[in-house]
Amino acid sequence: MNEGHVLLIHTGGTIGMESTDRGYQPRVGFLQQRLSEIPSFFNAADGGQVTQPSRFGRRVRYDILELEPLLDSANMSVDEWVRIARAIEEHYADYDAFVVLHGTDTMAYTASALSFMLDNLGKSVVLTGSQIPLSRVRNDAVDNLLGALLLAGHYVIPEVAIYFNDRLLRGNRATKVNSSGFDAFRSGNLPPLVQIGVDFDVRWDLVLPQARPAEPLRVLPITCDDVAALRLFPSIASSTLERFLQPPLQGLVLETYGSGNAPDNRPSLHAALRQACDRGVVIVNRTQCQTGMVTTQYAAGRVLGDLGVVPGADMTAEAALTKLQWLLSQGSDIEAVRAAMQVSLRGELTELQATPRFSWRG
Ligand code: ASP
Repeated sequence: MNEGHVLLIHTGGTIGMESTDRGYQPRVGFLQQRLSEIPSFFNAADGGQVTQPSRFGRRVRYDILELEPLLDSANMSVDEWVRIARAIEEHYADYDAFVVLHGTDTMAYTASALSFMLDNLGKSVVLTGSQIPLSRVRNDAVDNLLGALLLAGHYVIPEVAIYFNDRLLRGNRATKVNSSGFDAFRSGNLPPLVQIGVDFDVRWDLVLPQARPAEPLRVLPITCDDVAALRLFPSIASSTLERFLQPPLQGLVLETYGSGNAPDNRPSLHAALRQACDRGVVIVNRTQCQTGMVTTQYAAGRVLGDLGVVPGADMTAEAALTKLQWLLSQGSDIEAVRAAMQVSLRGELTELQATPRFSWRG
C-alpha cells in the first residue's frame, strides 16, 4: 500500500483542548480519543490511525507522541523547544515527516527556533494548531490537521513550516496576526510555500533544498536566553534604554520605525546604544512593520549602523530573537554572530542583490 508515515508530536494548544470550568485546557489522551471518532483520521478496518487515500492514492498513517505536560503555548520556553527538537531527532529515521501540534500564541517562535536548531533537516516538519478545538462542532482544527498530515505525508519539503488556513508558510517567516479569525498567521515578506485550493500548489522555486544530503540531521540546541526585544517609541527615555541594555543581556532586537529608522537627534540614546555595542551586546535593527525591510535610505536609519547596530533585513521579530539566541548558544565570537545575523541561514531573511536586475534574461 502507498503510505506516508508521520509522527504527530502533540505539545498542547487549543486544537486538543477540552472545555472545563476554568476555560479550555489540554488533557492527556483527549486528542487521540477525539481523532478516533472522526473517519477522516481513523479507519478501524485498516489499523486505526490512518487517513483515507488521497487523490494520489496515498494514505497517511500516523502515530501520536504526547509531550508531557501538555501546554498552552504561552507557557513554552527554550526547554520545550529543545524537547521537540530532540523528539524529532530520536524518531527521525522511523518516519517520513513530522507534524507538531502546538498552540498558536507562540507557534511562530517555536517554528523559528526549530528551524535553526534542526541543522541539515531533510524531512518536512509542519507545525499546526487551531483557533477552535477539535472537540467543538464547528472548528478549524479538522482542516488544519488534515491538511498538515496530507502535506507532510506526500511532500518532502525539508523545512520547518506552519500550516494554517490552507497555506504552508515558512516557519521563520510567519507571525501570529489574528487571535480570532482562522487566518491566524501572516508571512509579510515571503509568499506561502504551498497554497491549498482544489489542488496543492507547491512553490518549489521557494522551497529550500536540504543543506548536505549525504550527512545526517544534527540538533544544535539553544541554551542562551539572555536576549530581549525592545520597541522604540517616540518618547522613550535614554535611561530606560540604558537600564535595559545592562548585563547579563547579550542580544537585543531593537524594533525601529519604517525601514529601520530611529531618531538621529538624541545623543543620549546613541550613547546608550554605542556603549552596549562596545561592551559586546549584539543589537539587531528590525522594523516594527510587518512587510518591508531595514535599509539605509534615510539618515535616521544610517545612524544605527554607525553605532554598531546590525541591520536585520526583513526578519520577523520571532526569527530575529530565536536566531540571536541560537547563534549566541553556539560559542562563536561576537563579530561572527553579528555577521551571521545579516545572512540567510534558513531562509529567514532576504539578501538583497548587489546590483539590481532589469531583464528576464538575468
Ligand atoms: N492559548 C492557546 C495556545 O497558544 C491559543 C491557541 O492554541 O490558539 O496554546
